[in-house]
Amino acid sequence: MNPQDLKAVRAFVKECLSGPHAELDAIEDKPATVYETFRQTGLANWWLPEELGGRGLGLEDSVEIVNEIAYGDAGVAFTLFISVLGTSMVQLYGSEELKARHLQPLAARGAFCATLGSERSAGSELAKIETVVVADGEELVVTGEKFFSTNTDFADFLVVVARSATDPESYEAVLIPRDTPGVEIVKRWDVIGLRASHTYEVSLDGCRVPAANRLDGSGLRLLEIGLNASRILIAATAIGIARRIRDHCMTYAKSKPLRDGVLMDSHVFAQRLGQMEMQIDVMKSHCLRAAREYDAIMADPGAAAVFHRQGTLKSALTAKMFCGQAGWDVASVGSEMFGGLGYTHELPIGKLMRDMRYVSIVEGGDDILRELLFSRYVIPVPRRS
Ligand SMILES: Cc1cc2nc3c(=O)[nH]c(=O)nc-3n(C[C@H](O)[C@H](O)[C@H](O)COP(=O)(O)OP(=O)(O)OC[C@H]3O[C@@H](n4cnc5c(N)ncnc54)[C@H](O)[C@@H]3O)c2cc1C
Repeated sequence: MNPQDLKAVRAFVKECLSGPHAELDAIEDKPATVYETFRQTGLANWWLPEELGGRGLGLEDSVEIVNEIAYGDAGVAFTLFISVLGTSMVQLYGSEELKARHLQPLAARGAFCATLGSERSAGSELAKIETVVVADGEELVVTGEKFFSTNTDFADFLVVVARSATDPESYEAVLIPRDTPGVEIVKRWDVIGLRASHTYEVSLDGCRVPAANRLDGSGLRLLEIGLNASRILIAATAIGIARRIRDHCMTYAKSKPLRDGVLMDSHVFAQRLGQMEMQIDVMKSHCLRAAREYDAIMADPGAAAVFHRQGTLKSALTAKMFCGQAGWDVASVGSEMFGGLGYTHELPIGKLMRDMRYVSIVEGGDDILRELLFSRYVIPVPRRS
């Protein structure tokens, strides 16, 4: 990444996200102007490849960018990077024509994409998806109810995972433009954290698209592959939130009177902050390692086939799990640091805790990821570390 890019991200964070900015923790109906300001940096969807008009930055750079933005606000970071889940599926498994028709305009406009996988009874257990796709001549028709999907209302297009109507054991991933008749927003979720982001319940009622909008491969496998990038970036938000917590603790401890001095002089405080720094450092180095592994596969001309064989990357699972757990530990210790004030809305620590909570929940809770790690990377002996 060009050093000017990171400078531009830091300037954006300073200008738009560094104050108290209560509006970022309020539920607004439409994306805040903050997203338009980011678009003007020229970095929107920074990972889209250059041949499609994007900036072509890798996941290692993305970890740095997301870490910086999440320091300002994790909900803004989530909104800005979560399109990578759907776009990477289209980039790897969509036809050239589909990429030209949908990814190119996304890069040019700095717009958003949404991915609709989970349903009321199919979050962790995606094989229970009930949304169906049926072929009708040269078209596909998709019908179902999707429980959670981020960015859908203002996305250019949706990547929807559905079960085949003719073969219930088979799943498809289908690109549906947002303005397709039948795409209805049921409601926006009033989430406890990431409140600058927009997550919706969505109904799909007979949505018709050309058969060429189907991505190549099993929809569930493709979703699993798309989740590699987004899980690593969810993990990276934890680094930014944890750094912000550490810095708030340092500011507070310098002026909080304690015995004959201030909290900062206490060896207990030094122990706690030393521990936090270790956790932040390991979180960051693990995210970067996972991102490098991902980038190495993406650089391979046969990336689609390599990912198809590999499925979920061990390092993406462990990055999200570790950063969620270590980040929660930092948030908990940080919150205690402020005493009773830490349990009020006077200080930002409550918001930071609520934001941190998502890392261990969204895109698979730890129980599910532990099970996945066990079945994919512990049982097969050659895949163990
Ligand atoms: C802010 C936000 C944004 C989101 N954005 C999107 C999006 O853009 N697209 C999308 O598709 N989804 C999205 N989601 C959905 C999210 O990925 C799921 O909520 C998450 O994967 C958990 O699934 P679930 O809600 O079905 O919970 P469940 O899987 O039902 O979990 C409930 C409980 O059951 C336990 N459990 C489940 N299975 C097992 C098991 N096998 N063994 C032991 N315990 C188990 C879990 O540990 C947990 O305690 C979003 C969710 C949120 C909150």
